[in-house]
Formats: sequence, C-alpha cells, structure tokens
Amino acid sequence: MINFKELASEYKTPLYVYDLDYMTAQYNELKEAFKGRKSILAYAVKANSNLSVVKHFGDLGSGADCVSIGEVRRAFLAGIPSYKIIFSGVGKSDDEIREAIQKDILYINVESEAELKRVNLIAKELKAKCRISIRVNPNIDPKTHPYISTGLHDNKFGVDIESAKRMYIFANNSENLDPVGIHFHIGSQLTELTPIRESAEIVADMLRSLSNIKIDLKFFDIGGGLGIKYNDETTIKPYDYAQAILGTLTALDITVICEPGRFLTANAGYFVTKVLYEKQNGDKKFVVVDGAMNDLLRPSLYNAYHRIEAITQSTKDERKVDIVGPVCESGDFLAKNYLLPELEHNDLLVVHSAGAYGFGMGSNYNTRGRSAEVAVKDGQARLIRKRESFEDLIALEKDYLI
Ligand SMILES: *Cc1c(COP(=O)(O)O)cnc(C)c1O
Repeated sequence: MINFKELASEYKTPLYVYDLDYMTAQYNELKEAFKGRKSILAYAVKANSNLSVVKHFGDLGSGADCVSIGEVRRAFLAGIPSYKIIFSGVGKSDDEIREAIQKDILYINVESEAELKRVNLIAKELKAKCRISIRVNPNIDPKTHPYISTGLHDNKFGVDIESAKRMYIFANNSENLDPVGIHFHIGSQLTELTPIRESAEIVADMLRSLSNIKIDLKFFDIGGGLGIKYNDETTIKPYDYAQAILGTLTALDITVICEPGRFLTANAGYFVTKVLYEKQNGDKKFVVVDGAMNDLLRPSLYNAYHRIEAITQSTKDERKVDIVGPVCESGDFLAKNYLLPELEHNDLLVVHSAGAYGFGMGSNYNTRGRSAEVAVKDGQARLIRKRESFEDLIALEKDYLI
C-alpha cells in the first residue's frame, strides 16, 4: 500500500507517484505470454518517458519504441541497447533520420513512400545501410476512441498493403536499405481481440507473400495498444492476446515485437492532488483542486474516465461534483458528476490509472510548473523528477528579453 498522505507531505502536490513493482509484474506477465517464441517487448516510451521508468524497463530486458529522436536519446541514456530500439512516427525530420541511422538502432519504422525515399537518400549520404520496417495500415476498425484509433485508412498512420508491397520491393533493391520488419499498430486502449487477430492475419499474409518474392523479414511488430481497466472495461488477457497473434504465424520463423505502453504503466501511476476549496454555482457543486489539465490532460482531451479516491476524514454523504483545476479553461476538469463526500481544505484526491499519458502530456500552460514524479520500489519512495520551479519556466526566455 502506498502512503499517499506521507508522500504528499514530503514531496508536495500535485504529484505523480509510480509503483515500479506493478510495472515489473505487468512486464513479466506479457513477456511470459509470448514464451516459446522469440520475442522482444519494446516499451512505448511516450506512455511515460521519465528516465527512471525507461531504465526500469531496460533493466527488465525491455527494448524501446520511440516516436521522436528525443525519445531515442532517452532510451540510450536509460541504457537500452541500440539493437532493441525502434524509431516510429508519421513525421520524422531529416536530422532525426540521420541520427537514428548513425546510432544504428534496430530499425526505423517507415510510415510513407515519401519517408522511405528520404531514409534511402540520407542512408546513401551516410554510406550506410539502414534497417527498416514498414508500418502497414490494415484498415481494421479497432473499436476504440477515435482520437486513439490509428488502423483505418482515414487515420494518418501507416500505408495500405499495396503501397507497402511496392515499398518493400524498392527497399530490397536499394543498396542503402535493409527491410527487416513489418509493423502494425491499430490503436490504443484496445479491449477487443477480433480486430487485433484480423489485422495480424492480414499482415502475416503479407509477410508470406513477401517471402514468395524472396523478401524475408525477421521481425513481426504488432505495435502496442493492449487496453487496461480504467473503470469497468473487460480487458484482453495477455495470454489470449499472444495466442491470437501467434496463431497467425504458424510455420513462420520470425521474432515477434510488441510495443506496450499503457498496459505496462497506466495502472502503476497515481496523480495526487490537494483540495483547495469547494464552491457552488447554482445547482452545480465544484471541488477545486491544485492539479489541472496541464498536469493530467486526458479528461479534457478525451473525456477520459479516471477513478478518483478521496483521502479524507469526512463522513458526510456523497454527492455529485465536478472536480476542477485552477487553469483558466472550462475544459479544465479531472472528472464531472463524480460522487465524493464533502471535502475539507487540504484533503487529498488520488487519481488512479495516471501512469500512462499523464505527466508526458503535461504542459506549462498558465505558467504552472510541472509536477514532481516519485517512484516506489520495494516499499521505498524516491524522487525521479524534481518539481519545476518558476526559474525553470523562464530559463529559456529571460536572456532574450526584448
Ligand atoms: C503509442 C504507440 C504504442 C503504445 O501504445 P499503447 O496503447 O500505450 O500500448 C506502440 N506503438 C506505437 C507505434 C505507438 O504509436
């Protein structure tokens, strides 16, 4: 049990707290599900990119799936070996591509024909041979929130099967490209197995047809997306997930790469915020807290549900309240119509499932410093990121005052 009261008094609020032991358990369960096959779990760094968190997964043997060169650099700093680092994303700059090639990572995940040509040109300039994978868009509806759905043609991600085939042939004929993988990632917070299985089938068929024209790939990259329980969702069991994927790969000698993000970190994380006051506008009751959309954006951005636990002495009846932060936006809320008892100044609210897409989506809007981050491992709490100060916020401006 994490003692949030103690942590809040030591590190102040708003505060992110991560249970590293929970992350370990999630990692091991998923890794175990793929046993009997060569597999790499490449942690999706964007879910929670704190260096200590990335290092924690690296220590467990994880690779890293990165969507910017900044994330690639984090993965290196965290000690993840180059041969387990993947660079994905729809828009990579020339500088990013160049650095990824020079760092000799496992592969660059290419998301368009134009990008493949850029990678080819840059690899040629560097007199290098760049390992690539192509992100295929299987045009399957993942049945998740439209903002986190990526596997349909009207999403910006990946290329259709026909273009992918042309691209593999181009890459195979280039002296500077080495096609080693095929990739798909149809969305996030997936709770249904069928779209995953159907996508894997489409992509596995593609793998076989490439093999028929002597393009033999080594990596079958299934992306991430495994959903978690925020509320009452029924989730996919890692074992069933792995079986569904592996069932499409019979008789193929291939390494499976999985890029979990949310599954590993979401329910390991808590966002702790303090009650400032309550207020009433007409019929509406508000609880104003010191945490806001600049700390945890998911409720504002996706109308996402997070379970919220009150740490209070209050024994009053629960009533429906909106939990709102100090930021000057009506969209600044952590929850709406949420049942909580009457709260006192300095009571704590613990927002659950905040370990993925929490801190990382934070900003300095309203000149608010980002929260501190604390990791708990074997019952020991340690600061893994200092709270941002006002000085930090103006550091890049103050010498440029006009
Ligand atoms: C975001 C992302 C992931 C991780 O997604 P989760 O839903 O957090 O598991 C994996 N792969 C790619 C390419 C991504 O963009």
